[in-house]
Amino acid sequence: MRLSKVFIPTTKEAPADAVIPSHILMMRAGMIRPLAAGIYSFLPLGYRMIKKVCEIIRREMDAIGGQEFHLPALNPKEIWEKTNRVEAFGDTLFQVKNRDYVLAPTHEEIITQIAADHIKSYRDLPQIWYQIQTKFRNEPRPRSGVIRGRQFLMKDSYSLDRDYEGLDKSYELHAEAYRKIFSACGLKFFEVGASSGAMGGTGSQEFMVESEAGEDTCAICDNCGYAANVEVAKAKVKDYPRDEKSEELHEIHTPNIRTIDELAEFLKISTTKCAKSRVYIHNGSPVLVLMLGNDEVNEEKLVAALGGKVRPAHPDELMEITGADAGSIGPVNSNLRVIADLKLRHANNMVSGANKNDYHIGGIDFDRDLPGIEYFDLHFVNAGDQCVQCGSSLRIVKAIELGHIFKLGTKYSEALGAKYLDERGEEHPIVMGSYGIGVERIVACLIEQNHDEKGIIWPKEIAPFKIHLLGVNMKNEEIKNTCEKLYYEMQENDMEVLYDDRVDVSAGVKFNDADLIGIPLQVIVGEKNLAKNKVEIKYRASGEKKIVELGMLIRTLQDELYLL
Ligand code: ATP
Ligand code: MG
Repeated sequence: MRLSKVFIPTTKEAPADAVIPSHILMMRAGMIRPLAAGIYSFLPLGYRMIKKVCEIIRREMDAIGGQEFHLPALNPKEIWEKTNRVEAFGDTLFQVKNRDYVLAPTHEEIITQIAADHIKSYRDLPQIWYQIQTKFRNEPRPRSGVIRGRQFLMKDSYSLDRDYEGLDKSYELHAEAYRKIFSACGLKFFEVGASSGAMGGTGSQEFMVESEAGEDTCAICDNCGYAANVEVAKAKVKDYPRDEKSEELHEIHTPNIRTIDELAEFLKISTTKCAKSRVYIHNGSPVLVLMLGNDEVNEEKLVAALGGKVRPAHPDELMEITGADAGSIGPVNSNLRVIADLKLRHANNMVSGANKNDYHIGGIDFDRDLPGIEYFDLHFVNAGDQCVQCGSSLRIVKAIELGHIFKLGTKYSEALGAKYLDERGEEHPIVMGSYGIGVERIVACLIEQNHDEKGIIWPKEIAPFKIHLLGVNMKNEEIKNTCEKLYYEMQENDMEVLYDDRVDVSAGVKFNDADLIGIPLQVIVGEKNLAKNKVEIKYRASGEKKIVELGMLIRTLQDELYLL
């Protein structure tokens, strides 16, 4: 493609609202333009990348037996009411004013409707149905460019099986296809399992990319590959290092001391000698939760440990429940169920609230004084904690979710009556799975992972073009003729080439644009080298340069592209 003909409006600066690298560089490289908050136009260079990603996705979805659909984005609201999802999505669901329609944020309902109408027998199963289609979500604060759009492309697929065994297979097929898709895109990714408790034994898994721009926080182990969202991440926990001798319990007057830091400071002790108390209401009954020092309660873990309904007690409930306000609550002489984080197991000589305002109790020996206490893993893991699998040091990183695979079970098939008859003529709900990938997110994450101060560095696996042919001064007849000939030869040899044939643009601007657009190989045709019948190859990633004989260029490029 000739740069003089193709519309790639590169810019030196990015608009002020672009703060993350992928957003800045997609704007600067002329890949996208904003229309409104969270709504982007894809220009030819950007759309070229979207198409390449879609091609890879289609290849791998087809390979697991996926059949491509195209479902309507405009849906009657009625069907979304049948599954209670108008309420579940709330403000995120775009509703068409004065009409009973919604703009679909996902397509479980529509797929299930088709299954309900047409799947009759076990012989019709299993099925994998997918599409690559525009989704609409009224994301509250769309930022991060195309990573969180209000209109975005998703590959969504749905598996239909007769039982959970079948679902497990379809789910595994998807997990494997996702690994192939992200690897084929040259992405460094990791997988995290989400908590499966609430889904009744079924599972879900997210595919993540490490990035400062991410909105999720994950713990990862570089040694063994363990990775988990911090909401569920585990680390090895050692028992509390007990003092040799346990003190007697003693009450301490602690006027106006509310926080753990104030308490430690006041008593001149370490915060690790303090146990923090929090009160939660579990299925209507209060539970006292103890944490070490300043550790916060990980409420996801608390819910998983207790099951049922859990909420923090309101401040105005505390006095009635414990006899004290927050800051003076503790486990000694408490008639509440007491649970503690694992880090407090066997702790002694601890200080905690006395259930009397302005008083604390010291010398608490968890083994001696808290007989009914139960221990659970309730803390957030920290950077440097030991991996639960291999003991190596964990890193805490920000991450972006690229894809999500999810065992739905029969929620939608039951709500919409999607059933099949088995061999004996008995009716069963179809067992479903749902699987999503954000297409624009893949492109943005590629840039998050591959860029420098000059611009994008497309990885070898996927790039809008493989070669950027650059005539330094197109007014020079010899350069122009050489470039035209090379352009022709490259195309003859099936090389994807972007040809900077612009005449009235300085060499400096051409070089900057080439680095900004980030195509892996630059072929630079300039006067000095050409006088010696040579041209230069520059590798965008390393910045390395190589001078080659003109006659050897195509051969060299073939080798390089093969190696790339
Ligand atoms: P997130 O937690 O980031 O909001 P989600 O859990 O809502 O994601 P899913 O409903 O599982 O996402 O959608 C499947 C995939 O679609 C996600 O993994 C992500 O790649 C993509 N996606 C979701 N929301 C957006 C969005 N607003 N803009 C761009 N891509 C999105
Ligand atoms: Mg979301």
